[in-house]
Amino acid sequence: MGEIVFWTILRTAFLIFLLWISKDVWGEKYFWLIVSLSFYLFVISPAISFYRKFVEKNKEVLESSLCSSCKHFDESAVLCMKYDKHPTKDFIPCEGSAWEPK
Ligand code: SF4
Repeated sequence: MGEIVFWTILRTAFLIFLLWISKDVWGEKYFWLIVSLSFYLFVISPAISFYRKFVEKNKEVLESSLCSSCKHFDESAVLCMKYDKHPTKDFIPCEGSAWEPK
């Protein structure tokens, strides 16, 4: 999840820079339309797409793993807060020994 936020911020900064240096090319009439479209195409849409892939990739861990019912599990980052590791469907950092109900 942090990777998605990082790349979204980076794309936003790069896009703002590109729009800033090219603001005189389009003129005022279409500037806000181009800003809106470019933000949707290069920032919002990729972020949504990467988030959907992230959720799909971690679906099993989020819905049916031991960690999903543990109070130490952070669903937004798919992270065990106690061990600071990412559980997967084949890897549970504590191997069940530190599980506590939510
Ligand atoms: S303590 Fe164990 S069961 Fe709980 S989230 Fe961490 S690895 Fe998963």
